[in-house]
Amino acid sequence: MRDQPAPLARRGTLRVLLINPVNELVSITNTEENAWNAGRRWKPLGLLVLAGRTPAEWEVEVIDENLGVPDYGSRPRPDLVGISAFTSQANAAYALAASFRARGVPVVMGGVHATMCTEEALAHVDCVVTGEADDVWETVLADARRGALQRLYRGGYADMNRVRPARHDLLPGGYIFGSLQVSRGCPLDCSFCSVTAFSGRRRPIPEVVEELGQIREPLVLIVDDNLIGTSKRQIEYAKELFRAMARARHGKAWMGQVTINFADDEELLELAFKAGCFGVLIGFESPTVAGLGELEKTFNVRHGRDLRESVRRIHRHHMLVAGSFALGLDVDRVGIGREIAAAGHHYGLDVVNTLFLTPLPGTRLFTKLQAEGRLVADNFPADWRYYTLTYPVSRYRHLAWGEAVREMHEVNCGFYNFPRIVQRVSRALFRTGSPLGALISLTTNLSYRFNRSIDASALAAARPPSA
Ligand code: SF4
Repeated sequence: MRDQPAPLARRGTLRVLLINPVNELVSITNTEENAWNAGRRWKPLGLLVLAGRTPAEWEVEVIDENLGVPDYGSRPRPDLVGISAFTSQANAAYALAASFRARGVPVVMGGVHATMCTEEALAHVDCVVTGEADDVWETVLADARRGALQRLYRGGYADMNRVRPARHDLLPGGYIFGSLQVSRGCPLDCSFCSVTAFSGRRRPIPEVVEELGQIREPLVLIVDDNLIGTSKRQIEYAKELFRAMARARHGKAWMGQVTINFADDEELLELAFKAGCFGVLIGFESPTVAGLGELEKTFNVRHGRDLRESVRRIHRHHMLVAGSFALGLDVDRVGIGREIAAAGHHYGLDVVNTLFLTPLPGTRLFTKLQAEGRLVADNFPADWRYYTLTYPVSRYRHLAWGEAVREMHEVNCGFYNFPRIVQRVSRALFRTGSPLGALISLTTNLSYRFNRSIDASALAAARPPSA
Protein backbone atom coordinates (compact mmCIF):
# COMPACT_ATOMS: atom_id res chain seq x y z
CA MET A 1 0.00 0.00 0.00
CA ARG A 2 1.27 3.48 -0.87
CA ASP A 3 2.09 6.01 1.85
CA GLN A 4 0.06 9.20 1.56
CA PRO A 5 2.38 12.24 1.49
CA ALA A 6 2.18 14.24 4.70
CA PRO A 7 0.36 17.61 4.76
CA LEU A 8 2.65 20.44 3.70
CA ALA A 9 3.27 23.56 5.80
CA ARG A 10 0.03 25.44 6.23
CA ARG A 11 1.69 28.83 6.52
CA GLY A 12 4.21 30.57 4.38
CA THR A 13 4.99 30.05 0.72
CA LEU A 14 5.39 26.57 -0.69
CA ARG A 15 7.72 25.70 -3.54
CA VAL A 16 6.72 23.78 -6.64
CA LEU A 17 9.30 22.78 -9.20
CA LEU A 18 8.05 22.16 -12.74
CA ILE A 19 10.50 20.16 -14.84
CA ASN A 20 10.89 19.41 -18.53
CA PRO A 21 13.22 16.34 -18.45
CA VAL A 22 15.98 15.87 -20.98
CA ASN A 23 16.55 12.88 -23.24
CA GLU A 24 20.07 13.16 -24.61
CA LEU A 25 19.10 11.10 -27.65
CA VAL A 26 17.00 14.02 -28.90
CA SER A 27 19.37 15.81 -31.27
CA ILE A 28 17.99 19.29 -30.60
CA THR A 29 19.38 19.07 -27.06
CA ASN A 30 22.88 18.37 -28.37
CA THR A 31 24.52 21.76 -28.64
CA GLU A 32 27.99 20.57 -27.70
CA GLU A 33 28.57 18.60 -30.89
CA ASN A 34 26.33 20.84 -32.99
CA ALA A 35 25.96 24.44 -31.77
CA TRP A 36 23.43 25.16 -34.57
CA ASN A 37 20.86 23.10 -32.66
CA ALA A 38 20.52 25.97 -30.18
CA GLY A 39 18.82 27.90 -32.97
CA ARG A 40 15.91 25.43 -32.97
CA ARG A 41 15.09 25.55 -29.27
CA TRP A 42 11.87 26.94 -27.90
CA LYS A 43 10.48 27.37 -24.42
CA PRO A 44 8.50 24.47 -22.88
CA LEU A 45 5.15 26.20 -23.06
CA GLY A 46 2.99 23.67 -21.18
CA LEU A 47 4.93 24.17 -17.95
CA LEU A 48 4.87 27.95 -18.34
CA VAL A 49 1.07 27.80 -18.77
CA LEU A 50 0.76 25.74 -15.57
CA ALA A 51 3.02 28.23 -13.83
CA GLY A 52 0.48 30.87 -14.89
CA ARG A 53 -2.27 28.84 -13.19
CA THR A 54 -0.31 28.45 -9.95
CA PRO A 55 -1.77 30.43 -7.00
CA ALA A 56 0.36 33.07 -5.30
CA GLU A 57 0.80 30.94 -2.17
CA TRP A 58 3.14 28.76 -4.24
CA GLU A 59 6.53 29.90 -5.41
CA VAL A 60 6.99 28.33 -8.81
CA GLU A 61 10.20 27.52 -10.62
CA VAL A 62 10.40 26.01 -14.09
CA ILE A 63 13.42 23.96 -15.12
CA ASP A 64 14.07 23.03 -18.72
CA GLU A 65 16.73 20.33 -18.60
CA ASN A 66 17.36 20.89 -22.31
CA LEU A 67 19.42 23.87 -21.18
CA GLY A 68 21.38 21.75 -18.69
CA VAL A 69 20.53 19.45 -15.80
CA PRO A 70 20.91 21.19 -12.46
CA ASP A 71 22.33 19.57 -9.33
CA TYR A 72 18.99 19.15 -7.59
CA GLY A 73 20.62 17.86 -4.40
CA SER A 74 22.39 21.14 -3.78
CA ARG A 75 19.25 23.22 -4.27
CA PRO A 76 16.52 23.96 -1.69
CA ARG A 77 14.14 21.01 -1.35
CA PRO A 78 10.83 21.76 -3.10
CA ASP A 79 7.45 20.87 -1.55
CA LEU A 80 6.13 19.40 -4.79
CA VAL A 81 7.54 18.43 -8.17
CA GLY A 82 5.55 18.45 -11.41
CA ILE A 83 6.98 16.74 -14.50
CA SER A 84 5.58 16.89 -18.02
CA ALA A 85 6.89 14.38 -20.55
CA PHE A 86 6.51 13.18 -24.08
CA THR A 87 7.06 9.45 -24.57
CA SER A 88 10.78 9.86 -25.31
CA GLN A 89 11.20 11.65 -21.96
CA ALA A 90 9.34 9.05 -19.90
CA ASN A 91 12.41 7.28 -18.51
CA ALA A 92 14.08 10.52 -17.58
CA ALA A 93 10.83 11.54 -15.86
CA TYR A 94 10.72 8.28 -13.87
CA ALA A 95 14.37 8.63 -12.82
CA LEU A 96 13.75 12.19 -11.68
CA ALA A 97 10.63 11.10 -9.81
CA ALA A 98 12.57 8.38 -8.01
CA SER A 99 15.24 10.81 -6.84
CA PHE A 100 12.75 13.37 -5.53
CA ARG A 101 10.55 10.74 -3.89
CA ALA A 102 13.63 9.37 -2.14
CA ARG A 103 13.95 12.83 -0.60
CA GLY A 104 10.30 12.72 0.50
CA VAL A 105 9.05 15.12 -2.19
CA PRO A 106 5.74 14.11 -3.82
CA VAL A 107 5.83 13.98 -7.62
CA VAL A 108 2.99 14.71 -10.06
CA MET A 109 3.35 13.70 -13.70
CA GLY A 110 1.35 14.91 -16.69
CA GLY A 111 1.72 15.21 -20.43
CA VAL A 112 0.93 12.96 -23.36
CA HIS A 113 2.86 9.90 -22.16
CA ALA A 114 1.27 9.81 -18.72
CA THR A 115 -2.11 10.23 -20.43
CA MET A 116 -1.55 7.32 -22.80
CA CYS A 117 0.30 5.04 -20.34
CA THR A 118 -1.36 6.02 -17.08
CA GLU A 119 -0.85 2.74 -15.22
CA GLU A 120 2.82 2.66 -16.08
CA ALA A 121 3.32 6.25 -14.94
CA LEU A 122 1.43 5.61 -11.70
CA ALA A 123 4.00 2.97 -10.82
CA HIS A 124 6.68 5.67 -10.74
CA VAL A 125 5.04 8.81 -9.38
CA ASP A 126 2.62 9.79 -6.61
CA CYS A 127 -0.01 11.21 -8.88
CA VAL A 128 -0.88 11.43 -12.58
CA VAL A 129 -2.84 14.15 -14.36
CA THR A 130 -4.27 12.92 -17.65
CA GLY A 131 -5.39 15.12 -20.52
CA GLU A 132 -4.93 18.86 -20.21
CA ALA A 133 -3.94 19.88 -16.69
CA ASP A 134 -5.10 23.53 -16.83
CA ASP A 135 -8.46 23.17 -15.09
CA VAL A 136 -7.38 20.70 -12.39
CA TRP A 137 -3.96 22.12 -11.52
CA GLU A 138 -5.21 24.35 -8.69
CA THR A 139 -7.04 21.36 -7.18
CA VAL A 140 -3.85 19.29 -7.38
CA LEU A 141 -1.93 22.00 -5.53
CA ALA A 142 -4.64 22.44 -2.89
CA ASP A 143 -4.77 18.68 -2.29
CA ALA A 144 -0.96 18.49 -2.10
CA ARG A 145 -0.96 21.29 0.43
CA ARG A 146 -3.26 19.41 2.80
CA GLY A 147 -1.57 16.06 2.20
CA ALA A 148 -4.52 14.65 0.29
CA LEU A 149 -3.01 14.24 -3.17
CA GLN A 150 -5.15 11.86 -5.22
CA ARG A 151 -3.56 9.20 -7.40
CA LEU A 152 -5.33 10.35 -10.55
CA TYR A 153 -6.79 13.61 -11.84
CA ARG A 154 -8.55 13.62 -15.18
CA GLY A 155 -7.95 16.97 -16.86
CA GLY A 156 -9.91 16.15 -20.03
CA TYR A 157 -10.19 19.10 -22.41
CA ALA A 158 -9.51 22.46 -20.82
CA ASP A 159 -11.98 25.33 -21.14
CA MET A 160 -10.15 27.52 -23.67
CA ASN A 161 -11.86 30.64 -22.31
CA ARG A 162 -10.09 30.06 -19.00
CA VAL A 163 -6.60 29.29 -20.29
CA ARG A 164 -4.31 31.76 -18.54
CA PRO A 165 -1.34 33.44 -20.22
CA ALA A 166 1.90 31.51 -19.82
CA ARG A 167 4.55 32.91 -17.44
CA HIS A 168 6.82 34.13 -20.21
CA ASP A 169 8.93 35.94 -17.63
CA LEU A 170 10.26 32.58 -16.38
CA LEU A 171 13.25 30.91 -18.08
CA PRO A 172 14.69 34.27 -19.09
CA GLY A 173 17.61 33.22 -21.29
CA GLY A 174 18.93 30.56 -23.65
CA TYR A 175 16.15 30.46 -26.24
CA ILE A 176 15.93 31.75 -29.77
CA PHE A 177 12.16 31.22 -29.81
CA GLY A 178 9.51 32.21 -27.32
CA SER A 179 6.35 30.12 -27.60
CA LEU A 180 2.62 30.72 -27.76
CA GLN A 181 -0.51 28.61 -28.08
CA VAL A 182 -3.68 29.70 -29.83
CA SER A 183 -5.64 26.47 -30.26
CA ARG A 184 -5.42 22.79 -29.35
CA GLY A 185 -6.02 19.70 -31.46
CA CYS A 186 -6.35 19.11 -35.18
CA PRO A 187 -9.36 18.30 -37.39
CA LEU A 188 -7.42 15.61 -39.28
CA ASP A 189 -6.83 12.12 -37.91
CA CYS A 190 -3.57 10.70 -39.28
CA SER A 191 -2.90 7.12 -38.18
CA PHE A 192 0.46 7.87 -36.51
CA CYS A 193 -0.61 10.98 -34.59
CA SER A 194 -1.87 11.30 -31.03
CA VAL A 195 -3.22 14.83 -31.35
CA THR A 196 -6.82 15.09 -30.24
CA ALA A 197 -9.81 16.30 -32.24
CA PHE A 198 -10.16 20.00 -32.86
CA SER A 199 -13.77 20.56 -31.80
CA GLY A 200 -13.55 24.35 -31.92
CA ARG A 201 -10.89 24.59 -29.21
CA ARG A 202 -9.54 28.06 -29.75
CA ARG A 203 -8.67 30.84 -27.32
CA PRO A 204 -10.30 34.29 -27.37
CA ILE A 205 -8.31 36.39 -29.86
CA PRO A 206 -7.74 39.47 -27.63
CA GLU A 207 -6.11 37.27 -24.97
CA VAL A 208 -3.81 35.62 -27.49
CA VAL A 209 -2.73 38.95 -28.95
CA GLU A 210 -2.10 40.43 -25.52
CA GLU A 211 -0.01 37.41 -24.55
CA LEU A 212 2.03 37.71 -27.73
CA GLY A 213 3.04 41.17 -26.56
CA GLN A 214 4.29 39.72 -23.25
CA ILE A 215 6.84 37.44 -24.92
CA ARG A 216 10.32 38.86 -24.60
CA GLU A 217 11.92 36.95 -27.49
CA PRO A 218 11.56 38.67 -30.90
CA LEU A 219 11.01 35.25 -32.55
CA VAL A 220 8.02 33.14 -31.55
CA LEU A 221 6.99 29.59 -32.30
CA ILE A 222 3.21 29.14 -32.29
CA VAL A 223 3.09 25.58 -31.05
CA ASP A 224 -0.43 24.65 -32.27
CA ASP A 225 -0.50 21.38 -34.17
CA ASN A 226 -2.65 23.01 -36.81
CA LEU A 227 -2.92 26.78 -36.54
CA ILE A 228 -5.43 27.35 -39.36
CA GLY A 229 -7.63 24.23 -39.31
CA THR A 230 -9.53 23.11 -42.37
CA SER A 231 -13.13 24.29 -42.11
CA LYS A 232 -14.39 27.69 -43.26
CA ARG A 233 -15.08 28.68 -39.67
CA GLN A 234 -11.60 27.74 -38.48
CA ILE A 235 -10.00 29.66 -41.33
CA GLU A 236 -12.13 32.72 -40.61
CA TYR A 237 -10.90 32.57 -37.00
CA ALA A 238 -7.29 32.43 -38.25
CA LYS A 239 -7.88 35.47 -40.46
CA GLU A 240 -9.41 37.39 -37.58
CA LEU A 241 -6.47 36.43 -35.39
CA PHE A 242 -3.92 37.55 -37.99
CA ARG A 243 -5.73 40.88 -38.47
CA ALA A 244 -5.64 41.47 -34.70
CA MET A 245 -1.94 40.53 -34.52
CA ALA A 246 -1.12 42.95 -37.31
CA ARG A 247 -3.12 45.74 -35.66
CA ALA A 248 -1.33 45.17 -32.34
CA ARG A 249 2.08 45.79 -33.96
CA HIS A 250 4.04 43.82 -31.38
CA GLY A 251 6.85 43.45 -33.89
CA LYS A 252 7.20 39.69 -33.40
CA ALA A 253 8.27 37.40 -36.20
CA TRP A 254 6.70 33.98 -35.81
CA MET A 255 6.31 30.59 -37.38
CA GLY A 256 3.60 27.97 -36.95
CA GLN A 257 2.43 24.54 -38.06
CA VAL A 258 -0.30 24.42 -40.69
CA THR A 259 -1.79 22.03 -43.20
CA ILE A 260 -1.21 22.47 -46.92
CA ASN A 261 -4.60 24.18 -47.40
CA PHE A 262 -2.84 27.27 -46.02
CA ALA A 263 -1.77 27.84 -49.62
CA ASP A 264 -5.33 27.90 -50.96
CA ASP A 265 -6.47 31.26 -49.66
CA GLU A 266 -4.67 34.37 -50.89
CA GLU A 267 -6.24 36.56 -48.22
CA LEU A 268 -5.12 34.16 -45.47
CA LEU A 269 -1.57 34.20 -46.81
CA GLU A 270 -1.49 37.98 -47.04
CA LEU A 271 -2.86 38.39 -43.52
CA ALA A 272 -0.43 35.82 -42.05
CA PHE A 273 2.54 37.68 -43.53
CA LYS A 274 1.25 41.04 -42.27
CA ALA A 275 0.81 39.45 -38.81
CA GLY A 276 4.53 38.61 -38.73
CA CYS A 277 4.63 35.05 -40.07
CA PHE A 278 8.03 34.28 -41.57
CA GLY A 279 7.52 30.56 -42.13
CA VAL A 280 5.35 27.51 -41.71
CA LEU A 281 5.95 23.82 -41.05
CA ILE A 282 3.76 21.50 -43.11
CA GLY A 283 3.49 17.72 -42.81
CA PHE A 284 4.04 16.35 -46.33
CA GLU A 285 4.65 12.93 -44.74
CA SER A 286 5.30 10.87 -47.88
CA PRO A 287 6.37 11.59 -51.47
CA THR A 288 3.91 8.97 -52.75
CA VAL A 289 0.12 8.82 -52.86
CA ALA A 290 0.28 5.24 -51.58
CA GLY A 291 2.25 6.46 -48.57
CA LEU A 292 -0.28 9.20 -47.86
CA GLY A 293 -3.03 6.59 -48.09
CA GLU A 294 -1.25 4.37 -45.60
CA LEU A 295 -0.92 7.27 -43.15
CA GLU A 296 -4.53 8.33 -43.78
CA LYS A 297 -3.43 11.75 -44.95
CA THR A 298 -4.64 11.87 -48.55
CA PHE A 299 -5.92 15.31 -47.55
CA ASN A 300 -2.57 16.58 -48.89
CA VAL A 301 -3.35 15.60 -52.47
CA ARG A 302 -7.12 15.98 -52.45
CA HIS A 303 -8.65 17.53 -55.60
CA GLY A 304 -5.45 16.86 -57.56
CA ARG A 305 -3.38 19.33 -55.56
CA ASP A 306 -0.05 20.36 -57.08
CA LEU A 307 2.20 20.47 -54.01
CA ARG A 308 4.95 22.39 -55.78
CA GLU A 309 2.52 25.09 -56.82
CA SER A 310 1.10 25.24 -53.27
CA VAL A 311 4.59 25.86 -51.86
CA ARG A 312 5.20 28.52 -54.50
CA ARG A 313 2.04 30.36 -53.49
CA ILE A 314 3.28 30.52 -49.88
CA HIS A 315 6.72 31.69 -51.07
CA ARG A 316 5.10 34.44 -53.12
CA HIS A 317 3.88 35.85 -49.81
CA HIS A 318 7.46 35.98 -48.49
CA MET A 319 7.16 33.05 -46.07
CA LEU A 320 9.48 30.04 -45.81
CA VAL A 321 8.19 26.47 -45.94
CA ALA A 322 9.61 23.62 -43.89
CA GLY A 323 8.28 20.17 -44.72
CA SER A 324 8.23 17.05 -42.57
CA PHE A 325 8.31 13.48 -43.89
CA ALA A 326 8.06 10.04 -42.28
CA LEU A 327 10.38 7.22 -43.33
CA GLY A 328 9.65 3.54 -42.76
CA LEU A 329 6.12 3.19 -44.11
CA ASP A 330 4.95 -0.21 -45.31
CA VAL A 331 5.17 1.09 -48.88
CA ASP A 332 8.74 2.38 -48.44
CA ARG A 333 11.54 0.41 -50.11
CA VAL A 334 15.24 0.94 -50.66
CA GLY A 335 15.51 4.26 -52.51
CA ILE A 336 12.91 6.07 -50.40
CA GLY A 337 15.64 8.32 -48.95
CA ARG A 338 16.50 9.67 -52.38
CA GLU A 339 12.79 10.02 -53.21
CA ILE A 340 12.13 12.16 -50.14
CA ALA A 341 15.15 14.38 -50.82
CA ALA A 342 14.05 14.74 -54.46
CA ALA A 343 10.49 15.61 -53.39
CA GLY A 344 11.86 18.24 -51.02
CA HIS A 345 13.82 19.82 -53.90
CA HIS A 346 10.93 19.50 -56.32
CA TYR A 347 8.44 21.16 -53.98
CA GLY A 348 11.00 23.92 -53.31
CA LEU A 349 11.10 23.40 -49.55
CA ASP A 350 13.43 25.52 -47.45
CA VAL A 351 13.91 22.79 -44.84
CA VAL A 352 13.15 19.06 -44.79
CA ASN A 353 12.65 17.32 -41.47
CA THR A 354 12.51 13.55 -41.95
CA LEU A 355 11.65 11.29 -39.05
CA PHE A 356 11.31 7.54 -38.67
CA LEU A 357 7.69 6.49 -38.64
CA THR A 358 7.28 5.89 -34.93
CA PRO A 359 4.41 4.07 -33.22
CA LEU A 360 3.67 6.34 -30.27
CA PRO A 361 1.45 4.85 -27.57
CA GLY A 362 -2.21 5.72 -27.98
CA THR A 363 -2.06 5.81 -31.79
CA ARG A 364 -3.61 3.36 -34.24
CA LEU A 365 -0.13 2.76 -35.59
CA PHE A 366 1.10 1.55 -32.19
CA THR A 367 -1.82 -0.85 -31.80
CA LYS A 368 -1.22 -2.26 -35.28
CA LEU A 369 2.55 -2.74 -35.05
CA GLN A 370 2.36 -4.16 -31.55
CA ALA A 371 -0.29 -6.66 -32.67
CA GLU A 372 1.91 -7.64 -35.61
CA GLY A 373 4.94 -8.10 -33.34
CA ARG A 374 6.85 -5.38 -35.18
CA LEU A 375 8.16 -3.30 -32.29
CA VAL A 376 11.95 -3.68 -32.13
CA ALA A 377 12.39 -1.49 -29.09
CA ASP A 378 9.74 -2.99 -26.81
CA ASN A 379 11.40 -3.34 -23.43
CA PHE A 380 9.14 -0.81 -21.74
CA PRO A 381 9.54 1.53 -20.01
CA ALA A 382 13.33 1.45 -20.62
CA ASP A 383 13.00 1.58 -24.41
CA TRP A 384 10.76 4.66 -24.47
CA ARG A 385 13.97 6.68 -24.62
CA TYR A 386 14.34 5.55 -28.24
CA TYR A 387 10.90 6.89 -29.19
CA THR A 388 12.42 10.20 -30.27
CA LEU A 389 11.28 9.82 -33.90
CA THR A 390 14.98 9.84 -34.88
CA TYR A 391 15.49 6.16 -34.06
CA PRO A 392 13.96 3.21 -35.97
CA VAL A 393 12.01 1.43 -33.25
CA SER A 394 9.89 -0.75 -35.57
CA ARG A 395 10.45 -3.62 -37.92
CA TYR A 396 9.70 -2.12 -41.34
CA ARG A 397 8.00 -4.15 -44.03
CA HIS A 398 10.53 -3.70 -46.82
CA LEU A 399 13.51 -2.14 -45.01
CA ALA A 400 15.84 -3.98 -42.68
CA TRP A 401 16.99 -1.97 -39.67
CA GLY A 402 20.34 -1.03 -41.25
CA GLU A 403 18.64 -0.14 -44.54
CA ALA A 404 16.24 2.20 -42.77
CA VAL A 405 19.21 3.95 -41.15
CA ARG A 406 20.97 4.25 -44.51
CA GLU A 407 17.84 5.63 -46.18
CA MET A 408 17.63 8.31 -43.51
CA HIS A 409 21.25 9.18 -44.20
CA GLU A 410 20.41 9.36 -47.92
CA VAL A 411 17.67 11.93 -47.32
CA ASN A 412 19.91 14.16 -45.27
CA CYS A 413 22.93 13.82 -47.56
CA GLY A 414 20.76 14.48 -50.60
CA PHE A 415 19.00 17.51 -49.18
CA TYR A 416 21.67 19.06 -46.98
CA ASN A 417 24.72 19.22 -49.23
CA PHE A 418 26.58 22.54 -49.15
CA PRO A 419 25.79 23.80 -52.68
CA ARG A 420 22.08 23.25 -52.02
CA ILE A 421 22.30 24.96 -48.64
CA VAL A 422 23.92 28.03 -50.20
CA GLN A 423 21.23 28.08 -52.87
CA ARG A 424 18.41 27.80 -50.31
CA VAL A 425 19.80 30.49 -48.02
CA SER A 426 20.17 32.88 -50.98
CA ARG A 427 16.61 32.16 -52.02
CA ALA A 428 15.38 32.69 -48.46
CA LEU A 429 16.99 36.14 -48.51
CA PHE A 430 15.33 36.91 -51.82
CA ARG A 431 11.93 35.49 -50.86
CA THR A 432 11.59 37.02 -47.43
CA GLY A 433 13.43 40.22 -48.38
CA SER A 434 15.01 40.09 -44.95
CA PRO A 435 18.35 39.04 -43.46
CA LEU A 436 16.31 37.37 -40.70
CA GLY A 437 14.80 34.95 -43.23
CA ALA A 438 18.26 34.09 -44.53
CA LEU A 439 19.63 33.67 -41.01
CA ILE A 440 16.80 31.32 -40.00
CA SER A 441 17.29 29.33 -43.18
CA LEU A 442 21.04 29.11 -42.57
CA THR A 443 20.66 28.07 -38.94
CA THR A 444 18.12 25.33 -39.60
CA ASN A 445 19.93 23.98 -42.65
CA LEU A 446 23.24 23.77 -40.80
CA SER A 447 21.57 22.25 -37.75
CA TYR A 448 20.19 19.41 -39.89
CA ARG A 449 23.38 19.15 -41.92
CA PHE A 450 25.57 18.51 -38.87
CA ASN A 451 23.02 16.34 -37.08
CA ARG A 452 23.04 13.86 -39.95
CA SER A 453 26.46 12.47 -39.06
CA ILE A 454 25.89 12.65 -35.28
CA ASP A 455 22.62 10.75 -35.68
CA ALA A 456 24.18 8.20 -38.03
CA SER A 457 26.98 7.27 -35.62
CA ALA A 458 24.63 7.20 -32.61
CA LEU A 459 22.28 4.91 -34.52
CA ALA A 460 25.05 2.58 -35.59
CA ALA A 461 26.13 2.27 -31.96
CA ALA A 462 22.61 1.69 -30.70
CA ARG A 463 21.51 -1.08 -33.08
CA PRO A 464 19.32 -3.46 -31.04
CA PRO A 465 20.29 -7.15 -31.10
CA SER A 466 16.89 -8.23 -32.44
CA ALA A 467 16.99 -5.87 -35.41
S1 SF4 B 1 -2.36 16.89 -39.70
FE1 SF4 B 1 -0.63 16.78 -38.24
S2 SF4 B 1 -1.49 17.30 -36.24
FE2 SF4 B 1 -3.21 16.81 -37.59
S3 SF4 B 1 -3.65 14.62 -37.20
FE3 SF4 B 1 -2.23 14.74 -38.98
S4 SF4 B 1 -0.14 14.59 -38.13
FE4 SF4 B 1 -1.57 15.06 -36.42
